[in-house]
Amino acid sequence: MVKKMEKINDVVFIEGLGYDSNIYLIGDVIVDTGTGMNQDYVFSEIKKAGMDPAEISHIVNTHCHFDHVGGNPLFEADISIHALDAPALENADSNAILGAMFGKSPTPMEVKTKLQEGDKVAGFEVIHTPGHTVGGICLWDGETLISGDTVFANGGFGRMDLGGSPSDMMRSLEKLNGLDVEYLLPGHGPWVENGRQHIRWAYEMLRGMG
Ligand SMILES: [Zn+2]
Ligand SMILES: [Zn+2]
Repeated sequence: MVKKMEKINDVVFIEGLGYDSNIYLIGDVIVDTGTGMNQDYVFSEIKKAGMDPAEISHIVNTHCHFDHVGGNPLFEADISIHALDAPALENADSNAILGAMFGKSPTPMEVKTKLQEGDKVAGFEVIHTPGHTVGGICLWDGETLISGDTVFANGGFGRMDLGGSPSDMMRSLEKLNGLDVEYLLPGHGPWVENGRQHIRWAYEMLRGMG
């Protein structure tokens, strides 16, 4: 089956295969890299988008979990991740990265840029959204939200027992609920239009649990 390339404005959507996170391409910037276990698939998707994988100059990781950072070593690219999740990569902290869950022992990675709230990457603004991990981020351009494992389509949100906390998640969803999101591009599952509604569902779901 040949899948057509999906593009949301300037963002190319590469659906995660197996345990891989979804991957997003914005020009020569790649947002999350999957586990690294499906290199042929990921590289062929990048080529379908008209990019040479060797030309990717910059990796932005939404958080430190292995299903999002495991593919980083496949690229000769600078890594950016929030300052609070950076030590997990630098120290190859298997607990924080969830190496065992994926049957891998991570190797240390150099982090070039330690992101903070309000930083700009590839025309997107960094929003710090802890709750799933301490240094989780979303990327926001005023219309499109790349949401990592903070919030998913249909009212889903990230697990809070893998390095995060429910009170942080509550504050993060509250923050995202204030944005007028059209396209929600999550770390797993489908991307959706009318993202604001999906975020509202997640926010109300978590509030109902508390
Ligand atoms: Zn994930
Ligand atoms: Zn995660």
